[in-house]
Amino acid sequence: MNYEIVIGLETHVELNTKSKIFCSCGGHSEAKEPNDCVCPACSGMPGMLPVMNKRVVELAVTAGLMLNCEISRYTTFDKKNYYYPDLPCAYQITQLNHPICTNGVVQVKTSAGTRDIRIKQIHMEEDAGKLVHSGRFSYVDFNRTSVPLIEIVTQPDFRSAEEVVVYLTKLKSMFRSGGISECEEGAMRCDVNISVRPQGSEEFGVRTEIKNMASFEAIEKAINYESQRHMDALEYETEELVQETRRFDDASGKTFAMRNKETEADYRYFPDANLMPIIIDDEWLEQIKANKPVAIDDKAVEYREAGISEKEIDMLLSDFKLGKLLDDIVALGCNAKDGATWILTDYAGVLRKDGKTVEEHNIAPEKLAAIIKMVASGEINRGAGKKILIAVVESEVDPVAYCNEQGFNKKFDASTVEKVIDEVINSNAQAVASFKSGKEKAFQALFGACMKELKGSGEPALIKSLLEEKLK
Ligand SMILES: [Zn+2]
Repeated sequence: MNYEIVIGLETHVELNTKSKIFCSCGGHSEAKEPNDCVCPACSGMPGMLPVMNKRVVELAVTAGLMLNCEISRYTTFDKKNYYYPDLPCAYQITQLNHPICTNGVVQVKTSAGTRDIRIKQIHMEEDAGKLVHSGRFSYVDFNRTSVPLIEIVTQPDFRSAEEVVVYLTKLKSMFRSGGISECEEGAMRCDVNISVRPQGSEEFGVRTEIKNMASFEAIEKAINYESQRHMDALEYETEELVQETRRFDDASGKTFAMRNKETEADYRYFPDANLMPIIIDDEWLEQIKANKPVAIDDKAVEYREAGISEKEIDMLLSDFKLGKLLDDIVALGCNAKDGATWILTDYAGVLRKDGKTVEEHNIAPEKLAAIIKMVASGEINRGAGKKILIAVVESEVDPVAYCNEQGFNKKFDASTVEKVIDEVINSNAQAVASFKSGKEKAFQALFGACMKELKGSGEPALIKSLLEEKLK
């Protein structure tokens, strides 16, 4: 039988704020020692009250706008009760009844085509601390306690691991470009809900949840393993599927049962009376909208209008750094389509030769823009531009100074060019003969020889027209 995989995602993203969500403790990522970044509030001392961080609301709304959500004008917090040593209050402050954003949609484009993934909701919550196990002892580190998170919950709309990875890559790129989160390792964690059903069936199968995965690679592997396990169970009755929470083990590539799935009732949710409802009025919402960076889909439209190809758009949008570099050089006066080619073909090519990726090398946008502009204005030709680019990547030279030093922009007068062309024609009798017999390729060879003699600094258009004239 053919089966269909059904996946829903819950993605936790750590927000890029200066302080925690309910206290003024700051930068836990810079904390050097365990419990460096802790106060009575976030370590759950009796009598301490939470104070809402306004910036968290603004970033959550920005994320909602980017994912085409409805923004709740009235939003409240709830307590989710459970006991665990890394949770000092024995409850987590989260949102159940009135989450900040609802009903969004994100498009994912894969080999199977473009599909809509509906976003059920985005809610704000606090992170838990960390347990460190050493020998017979376990230690608690509260640095991460109360760090702000948003949780993005999708409807069960994914049909393959590929769609999930495309969605997460898009989310990461959006959130980094929007200043919402750096999304570095561990700052974006996923719970995957998965079930399978016979192709064509409307009914959902038994659902399992794989908890807390941080790498896209692990998520893909876990989905492939778990969906196969479900299919085997249905097809060959290898085991009985139960609704449960599972853990993915990277080393073996398998998932293992952790516990039966909790239901909402297990957590005894109730409204958090310590925090006032948040009202988002028109003025505040307009202010957040005005500061919202262009979302990825708007970017695609912008790039398409600039004449950039679909393949290049995909590359630019899948890697935040590439898109940012293009935006920067366009702001410095370069043409977008031309800039995209320089970045994706020339710059990426130079890096690849050194075994590097754009992630590992940061060319200053000013330097790249200077090279592109010299070529665009005809001051130097493309070949010379590439040589300067290599020098910039290898030894951080100043492109204009390097160009002058190498004499790439030295102009040859027509008589010098003519002399060089004569020499080339005289010493390449064979190529001249094959050109005359109608071989177009021979012209390119002669043209290349002239460029070489002029050390790549001649004006291609002038050389071409003089060469043509002389050959005739
Ligand atoms: Zn604190």
